[in-house]
Formats: sequence, C-alpha cells, structure tokens
Amino acid sequence: MNCYRSECTGVGRWRIVLLLFAPMDYKDAPPARGETSLIVCDAHKEVTTVDDILTDESWAKIERSFAAIGRVMPVRERTRLEFVPC
Ligand SMILES: [Zn+2]
Repeated sequence: MNCYRSECTGVGRWRIVLLLFAPMDYKDAPPARGETSLIVCDAHKEVTTVDDILTDESWAKIERSFAAIGRVMPVRERTRLEFVPC
C-alpha cells in the first residue's frame, strides 16, 4: 500500500492512530485511540503532524462519537499521533 500523500510514491509502513486525551483534570486517564485508515512512508512519518490529519470535519466526527457513548470530550489541542507499524 502506498503512502497516503498523493504526491508520494513511497511504501506505506506506518498506520496513523490519533491519541485523544481527556482534559487535564483526567490526566491519569489513558488516551482514547482513534484509528485512521491513513498509511505513511518512513519519510512522511517524520513530517506528518496532528494538523495534517485532524481536520475540522474529522474532529466533529470524533466529538459526535464521544457524545454518543457519553464519554468525556477529548481536548483537540492535546491530540497526538501514534505510528503503528503495518
Ligand atoms: Zn510518503
């Protein structure tokens, strides 16, 4: 599978997972994991940031899914990326 960056022909080796953290009041809570279908190559793994992945649209979707299960809303600014080998 190729890297998700449209201009890239690199081999996708890493799946991107969003780590969604609750507010600081819940600092001991482990982050929720938001799986994505995005795969990046080694080079793009180094330069991909949360802002590349987390659009307003995807954040709204996350908020809806958290609301649906009554979970404490994550804080967008605390979101981190995790790269899982695939
Ligand atoms: Zn790439």
